[in-house]
Amino acid sequence: MSQRPGFPVKLSQTGATGPARKVPAAVPARPAAKSNPVVAASQGASGARSRTASQVSGLGLDSGAVRARMVRKLAEQGVQDARVLEAMGRVERHRFVESALVNQAYEDTSLPIGLGQTISKPNVVARMVELLCQGLTGKLGRILEIGTGCGYQAAVLSHVASEVYSIERLRGLHEKARTNLRPFSLHNVHLIFGDGMLGYPKGAPYAGIISAAGGETVPDAWLDQLAPGGRLIAPTITPAGHQALVVISKTAQGYERQVLEPVHFVPLKSGIA
Ligand code: SAH
Repeated sequence: MSQRPGFPVKLSQTGATGPARKVPAAVPARPAAKSNPVVAASQGASGARSRTASQVSGLGLDSGAVRARMVRKLAEQGVQDARVLEAMGRVERHRFVESALVNQAYEDTSLPIGLGQTISKPNVVARMVELLCQGLTGKLGRILEIGTGCGYQAAVLSHVASEVYSIERLRGLHEKARTNLRPFSLHNVHLIFGDGMLGYPKGAPYAGIISAAGGETVPDAWLDQLAPGGRLIAPTITPAGHQALVVISKTAQGYERQVLEPVHFVPLKSGIA
């Protein structure tokens, strides 16, 4: 594991929070495309032109163009932060999913990643990372991600933050993320195998904490490990009994909590397996 970087935690701006911007809810996923990935992905957009063989590269997927289309769609859906759109355009999502699902990698759909877990749909990843960045300018400081899964969101975070600590409780997925991320050589991503409900004190305090799994409450450890001016984004059960995105900002006066739109994340569980 990499050494903890020096103090103080780098926050691009402290104490700045603002009202959450409402964005349209994620669009329903389209049915799985069955044909060639390139054609399937590019034909998904209305008015998309057909592709010639010379435009097809790599895995049989002209992934730059298909990703650009995904990014345009994210912008249409309300994602505005240029840092987030750029990061979403950079990370090759198709390298994080099973080969049988590659043709759906740039659709706005969640996908299975094994062991009963799922990678969130791009719209949800972009929304969460945008919430993390809200009110802060420039690159974020250290970020803690709970639930590495396949490593996709950690890769996205690596482009908006100086350091990303990502913790996963399932050894199989921790190893899978390690394998998935290796070719990208993202030296600011640190993968940890452990129970994220305890946070990861060695990297604290964090400019931001983002959970990819939904709990009954936000663990105290996460609040303790958040830097002043930092933001925490977590799907959490609300008093009304459903799961919603909760944003908590740590200010000099205490914590500010906002409950946003309903979401459906896999459960936050304690212990390792
Ligand atoms: N960000 C991931 C999404 C993974 S789904 C991606 O891009 O693929 C959520 C993950 O949270 C699952 O892998 C699940 O095992 C993990 N998880 C649930 N509870 C956890 C806990 N207490 N600590 C760490 N990881 C946890």
